[in-house]
Amino acid sequence: MKQKYRTVTCPTCGKAVEWRPENKFKPFCSERCRLIDLGEWAAEKYRVAAEDEPLSGEAGAGRPE
Ligand SMILES: [Zn+2]
Repeated sequence: MKQKYRTVTCPTCGKAVEWRPENKFKPFCSERCRLIDLGEWAAEKYRVAAEDEPLSGEAGAGRPE
C-alpha cells in the first residue's frame, strides 16, 4: 500500500517537503534549512533584546550537532 503524504513548502528555501513522520525537520526540508531559519530568528531576537539588556551566557543549550 502506498501512502500519500501531505506536502508543505520549506519556509527557508521554498522546496516542496513531504510531511512524513520520519522527517524530524518539518516543515523544513532539511536540518540545514531549519538551522538557517532558527538562526535568522535568533539574530532578530538578539538584535531587539540587545537594546534592553546585555546577553548573558549561552541561551541555546542542547543544540544538536
Ligand atoms: Zn529547505
